Amino acid sequence: MIELVDVHKRFGSLEVIKGISASVAAGEVVCIIGPSGSGKSTILRCINGLESYEAGTITVEGVKVDRDAPSITAVRTQVSMVFQRFNLFPHRTALENVVEGPIYVKREARDAAMEHGRQLLERVGLANKAGSYPHELSGGQQQRVAIARALAMRPKAILFDEPTSALDPELVGEVLAVMRLLAEDGMTMVVVTHEISFAREVADRVLFLDHGVIVEEGKAAEVLSAPKHARTQDFLRRVL
Ligand code: ADP
Ligand code: MG
Repeated sequence: MIELVDVHKRFGSLEVIKGISASVAAGEVVCIIGPSGSGKSTILRCINGLESYEAGTITVEGVKVDRDAPSITAVRTQVSMVFQRFNLFPHRTALENVVEGPIYVKREARDAAMEHGRQLLERVGLANKAGSYPHELSGGQQQRVAIARALAMRPKAILFDEPTSALDPELVGEVLAVMRLLAEDGMTMVVVTHEISFAREVADRVLFLDHGVIVEEGKAAEVLSAPKHARTQDFLRRVL
């Protein structure tokens, strides 16, 4: 579904993605781990067309991701993104946040979008919070609204960029539980995370990124329990 071939990306003179090739099949859950500054967010942003890249190709279901092409809106509606900071509109209720994209970007009928939005809030355990504003919700609840908002676009895949890193420890579990349900339902997911136990349980594959290259990749159990490369071993020793 998602394919990267020898992707390079630089910010000015700094090359931050140095030839990444990877693919994600439909229904697969791929976790990306790696140190801060290794390029994890940048690669997600390139897949979603939020950043341009200089060389190589990224395709989603065979369509090239090109930030400046008219087709980029189509790619963005097919691949939703969930951010570390939930990025909800502060003056809109939970339900209004969820239906914004379907109504204004996808031009869905308002009633149908609201009905779907309520179902999605129920799915993330927030049926009773539809009318609440972000400041009335905990961080974990806001992130679950953000996941419902991502789902509202009926995406083919969802990219998660450290979705639990900004949360108090006691709120991490409720967000991971929702993500686990999505994975079980067959959603295609790329998840940047430091939650190694989540990756071990839920990911089909793990990529370890360092300094803009994939140092190691493989089945979650193999990479996380028996890493081959010294850099992976060192990283895991520090986060576990
Ligand atoms: P990670 O998510 O793994 O922590 P990032 O993808 O955010 O890493 O960043 C990779 C590198 O690119 C870092 O050196 C970071 O400072 C740099 N970088 C990220 N975004 C920008 C930007 N908009 N302008 C300049 N440099 C950036
Ligand atoms: Mg990041």
